[in-house]
Parts: sequence; C-alpha cells; structure tokens
Amino acid sequence: MTRPRIDPRASRTEQRVASGENGRRRYDLSSRTASNPIGPPRRDPRQEWAASLIDRPGRRRYDRSQRPVARGGASNVEAARVGSAAEAVSTEPTVRIIEEPAFLVFAFVDAPGGRLSRFDRQVLGGARLLADAGGGGGAVVAIVAEEIDGLGAAGADRVMSLPTNGSASARAAALRAAIETHAPRHVLFAEDGDAADCARRLSVALGEPLFSNVEHLTARQVVRPNRGRRAELAAAPPRLMTLGEDRAKMHAGAPGEARPLEFETAPSDDQAILSVEIIPGDPARLALSETDFVVSAGNGVTDFEGFRELAALMKGTPGASRVVCDAGLMPRGAQVGASGTVLAADCYFALGISGAPQHLQGIAACEQVIAVNTDLHAAMIERAGLAIVQDAQLVMPALIKLLKERQS
Ligand SMILES: Cc1cc2nc3c(=O)[nH]c(=O)nc-3n(C[C@H](O)[C@H](O)[C@H](O)COP(=O)(O)OP(=O)(O)OC[C@H]3O[C@@H](n4cnc5c(N)ncnc54)[C@H](O)[C@@H]3O)c2cc1C
Repeated sequence: MTRPRIDPRASRTEQRVASGENGRRRYDLSSRTASNPIGPPRRDPRQEWAASLIDRPGRRRYDRSQRPVARGGASNVEAARVGSAAEAVSTEPTVRIIEEPAFLVFAFVDAPGGRLSRFDRQVLGGARLLADAGGGGGAVVAIVAEEIDGLGAAGADRVMSLPTNGSASARAAALRAAIETHAPRHVLFAEDGDAADCARRLSVALGEPLFSNVEHLTARQVVRPNRGRRAELAAAPPRLMTLGEDRAKMHAGAPGEARPLEFETAPSDDQAILSVEIIPGDPARLALSETDFVVSAGNGVTDFEGFRELAALMKGTPGASRVVCDAGLMPRGAQVGASGTVLAADCYFALGISGAPQHLQGIAACEQVIAVNTDLHAAMIERAGLAIVQDAQLVMPALIKLLKERQS
C-alpha cells in the first residue's frame, strides 16, 4: 500500500486567505482546510481529567493509564472495572496445545540445582525453533531428571521424566530407550557439563554422528566451527546436536502445555559406578568465576567480620568492589567487575555497593541481584530485582540472627 503523496504547494495554496489592505500574502495555518473546515478535534483537558477521576473516598485519584473510559452513563469506576477485565482477558497468555504432534524434538534439560538455567532455556528455545520448522506441528519434549518449574513458559509441549541414579551413563541409557520408542526428529543438548557428556555417550550407543557445538541454528541449517575456527561446517539439522551457549534465543512466545509424557524404562545396571553423590565444595574457597552465589561487600560495609560470617552462613562466595580491595579489606582475587572477575553466578547479593559501570559489567550475566544500600537512587538498586534501602551494618546482623535461628 502506498501513502497518498502530499503536494506542499497545493496545501499551501489551500491555506491562503484573502490578503489584507497592504496586499501581503496571508495564510490560515490553523489546519482548517476546504476539505476539513472544522479542523482537528479540540481537546478539553478539564473534561479528560474529570473522566479519569476514580470514584473513591478520601483524596482525589486519577486513572491516567489511558484505558478506554466508557462515557455517558457508566461511572468511571465501572469503566475502570470494564477496562481492567478486558485487559485481564487480553493479557492472559494462551497456552499452545498440540494434541497430535507431527514429530517430536527432544531437548535435554540439565537444570542444575533443580532450576532452569539460561542455557537450558536456550536449548528449549532452539528445540522450539526446530519444532516449528516447515509449517510447525512438531512438539518439544523436555527431558528432565526431576520435577522442574517453568518448562511450559520455556517452550516445552511435553515433559518426559527419566529418573536415574545420577550417573551420565544411566541417563544416556534411559534416553536411548526413549529415543528408540518415540523416534524424535532431533535431540538437542547443551554443549556443557552432563548434557554434553550424555550426548557423546548416546552418539556412541546409537552409532549415530553427533553434530557438536552448534554456533548457528536455523530451521534449515546448523553451523559449527571447524579446523580450529579457520572454517565452518554447515549441514541440515541432524538428529543429535549439542548447542553452544548463547547461540539460540530463549522462547518468548505462547507458553507450551508441558504435559507429562509417560515413559517407563528399566533402571540401568551400571557396574562401573559404585556410588553417585554430589559433594558440595566450600563456597569460601570456590573461584568467583565458578560459583553460583556471591555475597559481595562495597564501600558501604564497615563490619567485615559480620560480612564474612554472613557470607559463610548464606553459603555464598565472598566478593568485593574495587574500592574495598584497594583498601586491603578483601583480597584482590575477590574483586568483582571489569578489571576483576566477571561472574557467571545465578545470584548476586550486593551490600553497600553503588553499582559503578565497571562493577556492573562484572555481574551482567547474574540473573538475580539483591542490593542493600542506603541510597535509593544507587545504580545497584536500579539493577537489583530485590532491594533493601537500609544500613548494611543493620541488615547483616539481622540476617545472621535469622539464619542462626533457622539452623538451630
Ligand atoms: C579503569 C577502571 C576499572 C575499574 N574496575 C572496577 C572493577 O572491576 N570493580 C569495581 O568494583 N570497581 C571498579 N572500578 C571502580 C569503580 O568505578 C567504582 O569506583 C567502585 O566500583 C566503587 O565501589 P563501591 O560501590 O564499593 O564504593 P562507592 O562508590 O563509594 O559506593 C558505596 C555505596 O555504598 C552505599 N552506602 C554507604 N553507606 C552505606 C551503609 N551504611 N549501608 C549500605 N550502603 C551504604 C552508598 O550509598 C554507595 O552507593 C574501576 C574504575 C576504573 C577507572
């Protein structure tokens, strides 16, 4: 569709009015034209304010959300109710239901700590892309070891639980049985940790090639680096693939149904593994780049004994801002930020840290940020999902007391 072209000369001529006595050209620029003699409708701000007045006792309150307000008869309260009901209907997410999937795409979900990680969401997003290929009709099946929240929102239509004794070989054996039964078109893994391990075991067990470390994923093509990154290898999406981190978008569309897909498999008898037990490391000794949870002190912290006690009780790895490290109050290795350590932690607890750009660069990947600061307008408070506007020296002992009570 093309827009009607405006001829500026013609519009100018249309606006010309009879000249005054001195013969000078005069124009009426009030937007009234021969075709629209009234001009644009005039706004009456008083009427607009009156219409958005909320009928409540006490102080006058106005609803300026620009929801359509019913006029003539209906009170503003009713109108607001109608508006909010309509909004509720329109904003309710519609769950995508695929009753009879044309094909299946398996997405192996690692979920460390029982929670979907960013990478897990990317794998599910990549699987969604493949399931929607060629007109759609495919369903994404999330392969999990335990119950996990948020799989539907991350794009899963089905969830298959393959409980194992925790060993990668047992998981691969259970997954192999599921693949042989359901014959998925694609099986997608993260190129990371247990998922990558399981993918390689499965590739050997099935005798099928694995297209590892996909860096570019589309519905028709997968690309990975080759010959030490001097070349690229492209192919049509094969059955077994591992996906590199940050190489696929997370699902942002309608949530999937995440309906359980029953699958019974005999527990694998893995003679090589005698016992599987996760031994947690000492958070205080973990490298900042490796840890999931960092409790960090800034210039607003003066009680460092309390800070270390709190970090130990919260099972977090202690971190600090540069100012604190420069002052020798914390070791240089604890510095978080552009010239310190860039974190990959899930959660960052910042005590008395302003949130300078160099510091914020170090926590860019942290999903959850909690800030304690006396300044409501500190950049760290803005970055945080949860903020406590209070003296850190008061918050720390209160948290220590609470944690000790819970432990006893
Ligand atoms: C090239 C370069 C590289 C840098 N790299 C880094 C880096 O890697 N990491 C880094 O951290 N910095 C880095 N910096 C320094 C950075 O710019 C800031 O100076 C530093 O991060 C500030 O640290 P801070 O927030 O702890 O201190 P401040 O800026 O002094 O902020 C203290 C905060 O604590 C709050 N506060 C005060 N009292 C209390 C209280 N009682 N309770 C609670 N809150 C309180 C204040 O409101 C304030 O927000 C770099 C700077 C340069 C120039």
